[in-house]
Amino acid sequence: MTARDASHELYDQLAAGHALSALEPEDEQAFLAHLPGCARCQRALAEHVETLGHLAHAAEAAEPPPALLEGIRAGVAASGRAGAFPQPVSLEAARAHRQSRTVRLTTALVGVAASLVLVAALLIVNVGLQSRNDDLQAQEVAFRTAVQSLLAPGARTVDLAGADGSRAVAVVHDGTVSLVLRGVSANDRADSIYVLWAKSRFGDVRAVGAFDVRSADLTVVNGLKLAGDGAVKTLVVTREKGRTAPPLSTQPAVVAGDA
Ligand SMILES: [Zn+2]
Repeated sequence: MTARDASHELYDQLAAGHALSALEPEDEQAFLAHLPGCARCQRALAEHVETLGHLAHAAEAAEPPPALLEGIRAGVAASGRAGAFPQPVSLEAARAHRQSRTVRLTTALVGVAASLVLVAALLIVNVGLQSRNDDLQAQEVAFRTAVQSLLAPGARTVDLAGADGSRAVAVVHDGTVSLVLRGVSANDRADSIYVLWAKSRFGDVRAVGAFDVRSADLTVVNGLKLAGDGAVKTLVVTREKGRTAPPLSTQPAVVAGDA
């Protein structure tokens, strides 16, 4: 990654914050000064606004109609004080003042994640009575929104695919993995569990964590811890018998992908 790309990550974050009307005045000014000259940010902002438009529309149609966007903004404000979220990988010391701003904003956006996932779930429920096409489109929006809400500076994403269109995106960041899954069937929580496995480039395989899938529409698993140096070559999800990860899996991959 070039220095230029790295410096633009801040604007990627600001674009999301701006769409949510969640920026501090200083950040807002910085983003508005940058926006006219940057096609990438203009595209990103248009996408965010479109996504939020879908969500707001779904919220209007919902019964009862909660002020979800207000809730997201409240979540941003609250998370700024919580400080319990993992910080992004540190940037160069020379950019220390900027780093503190990045950390604050990222913390706010991670805090937003839970709200957005709730909104996404509501969106899926709301479109249940509409056509199959609309349903799929809304699920795609919800999926992308959930992935986007997990991104932080320095995060890498890994696409995992399986049979019958099931898929997942793993967001790897600072020694942890979060998963957004779509089209993966719910497991029976009495006697089965899903397990995420990480294979290193040396070929050794370790269970990263076990989790339940409650809905094939959209499931988000947060903060699984990567062992060792976190260098991952392949990620695989299997469905196992029992309620804990076995030492080794003999089950087929549900979704898998290379980092
Ligand atoms: Zn830009």
